Amino acid sequence: MKRVLSGIRPTGDIHLGNYLGAIRNWVTMQNKVEESLFCIVDLHALTTLEEVINLADHTRLMAAAYIASGINPDKSIIFVQSHVPPHTELSWILSCITPLGWLNRMTQFKEKAGKHRENACLGLLSYPVLMAADVLNYKATHVPVGDDQKQHVELMRDIAGLFNRTFEKEVFPLPEPIITGPATRIMSLRDGTVKMSKSDASEYSRIHLMDDADTLALKIRKAKTDTHPLPETMKDLETRPEAANLINIYASLNNQTPGQVCQTFAGNNFSTFKKELSDLLIHHMIPIGQEMRKLLQDKVELDRILNRGADYANALSGKYREEIRDVVGLLKPSQAYKNKGVISSA
Ligand code: ATP
Ligand code: MG
Repeated sequence: MKRVLSGIRPTGDIHLGNYLGAIRNWVTMQNKVEESLFCIVDLHALTTLEEVINLADHTRLMAAAYIASGINPDKSIIFVQSHVPPHTELSWILSCITPLGWLNRMTQFKEKAGKHRENACLGLLSYPVLMAADVLNYKATHVPVGDDQKQHVELMRDIAGLFNRTFEKEVFPLPEPIITGPATRIMSLRDGTVKMSKSDASEYSRIHLMDDADTLALKIRKAKTDTHPLPETMKDLETRPEAANLINIYASLNNQTPGQVCQTFAGNNFSTFKKELSDLLIHHMIPIGQEMRKLLQDKVELDRILNRGADYANALSGKYREEIRDVVGLLKPSQAYKNKGVISSA
């Protein structure tokens, strides 16, 4: 059984890194696996509350981005994390077995908490536990993510193994990370040493899926590069991260290896290459942005898709929820209480 699960935080406008590093792989996978679930992880967005604006609007925007990028709601389950309460229940159970030392090692926590770690909220530290619950809730087997989430998926495997050992039952499969292609870590257009991110203060650091053609071309023109021409191999780009990043983007969009792109453009200067890259981006991204705009005009239909997804996700996780509660030893609520609908039955 192959069951895929992944998600994106509705913390801002979805960008090219999310698309190339995550969603595009989801689209390919949805046709190859038995079941795929893609959620909009709004509870994760709350861990950086200071960065969140219009959470509900951004949640619908993500749903539109998934569908416009090719996630088919008749094939995959699209839902909002907070619409499925078992995520938080399992997160609590897992947080009662996860050692603090494991969480303190997470690089994303260190980066996001910054220098004032003591002031960081508990949710920022326990983020990977909720992420483990997101996946284990459905006994998902594969988790397609960008490279920055590798450590969290590894932790999730450790937590699943720890749960199985603690309660002496193989309840959870160990989920596999799927991190593939030349775009697993798209970097900021302003600084090739940090990843493209929704939470970066500079709009020019990233390409949004809804950017129009002029904005997109301007962002590529302004992208940081150097004065040297393009080399023949990627090896020569080891010390030129901004240049390597643009080549990786081109390669990913054009289904080529970065080495092939280097050979095509070797000896050219960046203005020539940037023009080609802009044209390629416009060709791929503008139709997605247009489709998103269209989908966002019909909020009733978007909400209908999300409701249908939540129904499915609640039913599927409900099936495992009873098993998890049993294994942990929680008293089963009586049938009369269940009938009130407080605890969903499988
Ligand atoms: P935030 O800054 O709010 O954390 P983000 O851009 O990091 O936003 P997430 O919602 O944390 O986006 O991540 C969603 C998915 O996109 C994950 O699978 C993540 O690995 C992937 N992803 C995020 N940024 C990049 C990137 N720059 N390159 C490739 N994949 C990325
Ligand atoms: Mg992130």
